[in-house]
Amino acid sequence: MVSVSISPDSATDSATPTSVVSGQLVVLAGPSGVGKGTLLQQLRQKHPELQLSISATTRQPRAGEVHGQHYYFKSREQFQAMVEAGALLEWAEFAGNCYGTPKAPIAAAIEKGAQVILEIELLGARQVRQSFPLAKQIFIAPPNVETLEARIRARGQESEAAIAKRLAQSKVELAAAHEFDTVIVNDSLATALSELETAIFG
Ligand code: ADP
Ligand code: 5GP
Repeated sequence: MVSVSISPDSATDSATPTSVVSGQLVVLAGPSGVGKGTLLQQLRQKHPELQLSISATTRQPRAGEVHGQHYYFKSREQFQAMVEAGALLEWAEFAGNCYGTPKAPIAAAIEKGAQVILEIELLGARQVRQSFPLAKQIFIAPPNVETLEARIRARGQESEAAIAKRLAQSKVELAAAHEFDTVIVNDSLATALSELETAIFG
């Protein structure tokens, strides 16, 4: 894994890497429903020292999702204010909602030497690739598209329209898998978890 540094008071400047010190940044991407959240939950249980970034989103909470734990749920206006204040490390629109990574907690964690994981979609991953070229970029792929669709549906949390948007976007995401440092196929969860550990810890 690589080390990166960002300015902790970079509320308005672009999050430019400065020197190779302290913390480590890992990007985890892959189509909706592939199992990123499930893998990260298990990874966190084994490695509680890993810090997961909590994103801001304009999406409505799913059943069981807690503000400040799964996401910071924001109105469009609140999200736009964060963008204008330069408070996001990256952000993108996905399936009709905005998602972004709050910059300050990442800067603080990196400053402390923490390993920070950003679970984000493709456009955000590309932005981080520009601002943090040393960050490790990992892509989670499904064994096949039928399994992906079955998993999205099994989650049972989205409307048919939302599922259709996510499936359409998954084609774009899968076509970009080659951009990432490591591609892990989430077929057996245990195998994928083990590969994820190897990708992060070497
Ligand atoms: P993502 O965070 O990528 O959108 P989730 O973690 O929410 O995806 O997983 C989507 C659904 O797929 C969940 O119901 C989850 O339990 C299931 N799932 C994840 N990984 C596997 C796996 N390896 N085998 C079978 N089901 C899985
Ligand atoms: P979901 O609505 O299923 O939680 O997330 C939809 C997509 O948004 C997923 O691909 C997820 O990785 C991505 N996402 C979550 N948080 C962020 C973020 O902060 N920035 C970006 N660019 N994408 C995010």
